[in-house]
Amino acid sequence: MASITFSPDDRYNAFITTLATAETGPGRLSGIPVAIKDNISTRGIPTTCASRILTGYVPPYDAHVVTLLKREGAAIVGKTNMDEFGMGTTTENSAFGPTLNPVDLTRVPGGSSGGSAAAVASGMVRMALGSDTGGSIRCPAAFCGIVGLKPTYGRVSRYGLIGYANSLDQIGPMAMTVEDVSLLMEVLTASDPRDSTSISCPYHHTPDPSVTGLKIGVPEEFFGEGVDPQVATVVWNAITRLESDGAEIVACRMPSMAFALAACYVICMSEASSNLARFDGVRYGPPADIKQPWQKAYQEQRKAGFGTEVRRRIMLGTFALSSGYYGRYYAKAQAARQQVREDFARLFQTVDVIAGPTMPTVAYRIGEKNDPLSMYLSDTLTVPASLAGVPAISVPCGTQGGLPIGLQVMGPWFRDEKVIDVAAAYEQGGIA
Ligand code: GLN
Repeated sequence: MASITFSPDDRYNAFITTLATAETGPGRLSGIPVAIKDNISTRGIPTTCASRILTGYVPPYDAHVVTLLKREGAAIVGKTNMDEFGMGTTTENSAFGPTLNPVDLTRVPGGSSGGSAAAVASGMVRMALGSDTGGSIRCPAAFCGIVGLKPTYGRVSRYGLIGYANSLDQIGPMAMTVEDVSLLMEVLTASDPRDSTSISCPYHHTPDPSVTGLKIGVPEEFFGEGVDPQVATVVWNAITRLESDGAEIVACRMPSMAFALAACYVICMSEASSNLARFDGVRYGPPADIKQPWQKAYQEQRKAGFGTEVRRRIMLGTFALSSGYYGRYYAKAQAARQQVREDFARLFQTVDVIAGPTMPTVAYRIGEKNDPLSMYLSDTLTVPASLAGVPAISVPCGTQGGLPIGLQVMGPWFRDEKVIDVAAAYEQGGIA
């Protein structure tokens, strides 16, 4: 085993933990520094989910993806900052302070995988892993001007990923180039019996940048209310460029967009309220004062350990699941989710991929989004692919006032290769 030294100038607060020396070995990722989002378990390296409640927690095992990276010789150099448990869109909800966008230090890097995006965009690492529940890989990729893929749900094992909303969570690659994202997919897609939702569907693919005859569906709703007109123009120009390269643009509709965001938040919060019940101050985190009645110890531990946004979501999720309200909220959200899946299935009968902006705006100023609802609304364009479980990539397609804009390409289930091809086609044409 060889090792590499790592001493980044992390003025962005991209890392929560760094390793001064990291082991590397032979393989396709030999000698390549890779950063891992801090909700992915790494044996012997603290894993915090950017939460105080996990203070002192050192996982005794590696996530499946980490085992796979090590097997290919990757040097795991650090754990990246994030919104606590993945709950956020800016990486401001971190117990370790916000991450700054390397493109403009007064701006957020997007979230929740903002540390991974900043580590890649600043050149501190060549590749990183993020996780995406409602947009957390694609949003920071778009805001920092890098490439990020949310694979098809189930194609990459979640074993060792600390759950936020299990039915949506997906680990995925982030890098400067589509080629590197594709290389990471080759490594990450081995099957894993320890994640019952993982499916054996290996990815062996060389990106093919030809779009001749490709049908690209463009739903009207992706250019609707809330989308900054300048962002819309840049993304339209990108899609038009693909058309001049031989693709056919098909105008279409995705009516479920009207309720996808609300459904996604009900499902996320419900699953989170159940997932986060395990943080009881006994098995994880600083020890509770067990001489107190257990309810009190539990209450104090959770209040001190969780940040405001996490507490808000646990309460809302518990409410949505409570008897009498279950049918009104959770069951209804599941019905809405089914309609989102049906919209995608219908569209993929006639188009090969669906394209639009990744985010409705460019990166916000730090502190600018200070009410939860407007923060949630910024996920409007990323949640449909999450709810349906289809692959979606964000590739840089231009700028507004010097700030990056992402083109989002979504494809049919298990056709991650397709969205990678379209992103490669765009990337090879150069930024318009
Ligand atoms: N921004 C969304 C949220 O706050 C999604 C985050 C994610 O994908 N982890 O829940």
